[in-house]
Amino acid sequence: MQPPKRLDVSPEVWHYLNSTRLLMPEGVDESSTHASQMMYEPVFRFINELSSALGMNVKIVHVYTDSIRSEAITCNGQYYIVHDQYLGQVMNMLNRIYIYDASRETKLTYFYKLASQLLSRYGFYEESIFAARRYQESKPMMDHQKKQEIAGSLKHAFYTTVQELYILLHEHAHLMFKRSPELLNDLSASVVSWIEEFGAKEAGVTEELLLKLMSGFGEEDRAFIEEDMKDFLASRHMASDFCKQILGRRDLIEEFCCDRLALTHLHLYLAHKQLCDPPDQVQAIICCFLHLRTLQMMEARCSLETNHDFKDRTDLFDITEWL
Ligand SMILES: [Zn+2]
Repeated sequence: MQPPKRLDVSPEVWHYLNSTRLLMPEGVDESSTHASQMMYEPVFRFINELSSALGMNVKIVHVYTDSIRSEAITCNGQYYIVHDQYLGQVMNMLNRIYIYDASRETKLTYFYKLASQLLSRYGFYEESIFAARRYQESKPMMDHQKKQEIAGSLKHAFYTTVQELYILLHEHAHLMFKRSPELLNDLSASVVSWIEEFGAKEAGVTEELLLKLMSGFGEEDRAFIEEDMKDFLASRHMASDFCKQILGRRDLIEEFCCDRLALTHLHLYLAHKQLCDPPDQVQAIICCFLHLRTLQMMEARCSLETNHDFKDRTDLFDITEWL
């Protein structure tokens, strides 16, 4: 089967996309493809400039799928960035929830929607129907739109633009490293030494050191930290162990390098745009990491769902702690 006209990909890439993702009809017709091309035009131009500097030709392909993720693909010497617009849409909603301080009920309701989609993807259909029903029942109570109108702001849209660009640039970095492995080697060296340094610092945190540092603190602050001392020290050591694990994984080092290169390129792009203030740009990126982490955690949880009797549901969907 040949790829549809709107997707400028080779038959091999189309087979791959068609087999690994459920392409949803919403947002992929001719007119919306045209609209999104207009919207992404400056970003594409910027990515093309970066690619040309390395003699690469990168095709950016828009999809709208239940995978909620973008990815970089190389096939027969052709480079592709597959950008999932549904990921952008989810980010936009999470931004609205965060920026306009949506109610707890709104957060839970939206997470029922996401949980329903994820549970269905992993074949937990009864649970998916349960979550879908909760979403549909509570949907009218959601207050994010009302709060946004009261705030009279479009800040969430700027955040989403910065975040989508950052994701595109992260995927683009993967392709740049594939094309020029020496670039990855160069960047890896400084990333590795940063992780080593960070891990050593975390490992060096002891109770004695903390007590010494706290000597100037007020009684209340001291009592607060002392109460959680054990947990705090355990989390520092866990962070140090995690650093050691990362150092043994080339794929994770590459992820760090992609993040770093993406940040450098994002800074270059935003320097000539009046998108939003630098503090907001930084906050948008931090939110991007947190949103992606939230989605990852949700997927991990939903893919392991085995509670067919719907028991102990109170905590199961209480995932607002990740926001
Ligand atoms: Zn990556």
